Amino acid sequence: MKYDAVVVGGGLLGLFTALEMLRRGYRVAIAERETLCSGSCSRSTGIMTRQLALRADIIFTDRSIKIVRELEKSHGKTYFKKKGVLTINSRGRVVNRLETIYRSVSVNYKLLDPYEIRNIWNILKVRDNEVGIYTEDDGILDIGSISYGLRKEIEDLGGSIYETCGDIYLKPDGNRVKKTIIC
Ligand SMILES: Cc1cc2nc3c(=O)[nH]c(=O)nc-3n(C[C@H](O)[C@H](O)[C@H](O)COP(=O)(O)OP(=O)(O)OC[C@H]3O[C@@H](n4cnc5c(N)ncnc54)[C@H](O)[C@@H]3O)c2cc1C
Repeated sequence: MKYDAVVVGGGLLGLFTALEMLRRGYRVAIAERETLCSGSCSRSTGIMTRQLALRADIIFTDRSIKIVRELEKSHGKTYFKKKGVLTINSRGRVVNRLETIYRSVSVNYKLLDPYEIRNIWNILKVRDNEVGIYTEDDGILDIGSISYGLRKEIEDLGGSIYETCGDIYLKPDGNRVKKTIIC
């Protein structure tokens, strides 16, 4: 079988890359040395939060959450559980800076003072000079379900998935890959 592209590594990045290419009409294979999502993805807590310090990262996270939600609509599964994320920071410049970024990218957040935090989560120890940033639209990605769903979607679109291949090496020829050996 000939492919237009071979994605090396079947973590979430590889799976989404393959899916995007298949949707654009390319013939794609994924070659994974172990099993799908057995790398960093299998260790990830799966927290998807917009509480980030770079504007671009917040925009990417927002987009990722939308993509996962779209997949849920078409597949009827629960890949993402809305949990709400609370981060406690010292009052002052850092929080002011974060607030400026959040407003510029329309992140829905609440700023909670120590009294409010203790009232809601009474086991938390918060100092008086700290504040909480709470983003209730954030949550946790279920890596197992999403990897299962992506596998199905990729196979339904005619993509091939090769697992337990061992390490794949690409042989470059100028700026083209000349040969890819898959198991
Ligand atoms: C403990 C921990 C907790 C984390 N918690 C979070 C979190 O809460 N939220 C969050 O957003 N991020 C979290 N992360 C980060 C997140 O897991 C990674 O950013 C993400 O999994 C990267 O995905 P990936 O597809 O690039 O990599 P991977 O999941 O590592 O996938 C790469 C795949 O490529 C394969 N591979 C590599 N080289 C080759 C080769 N030569 N040939 C064949 N196959 C190959 C590997 O086996 C692997 O399966 C966490 C990470 C860790 C370690």
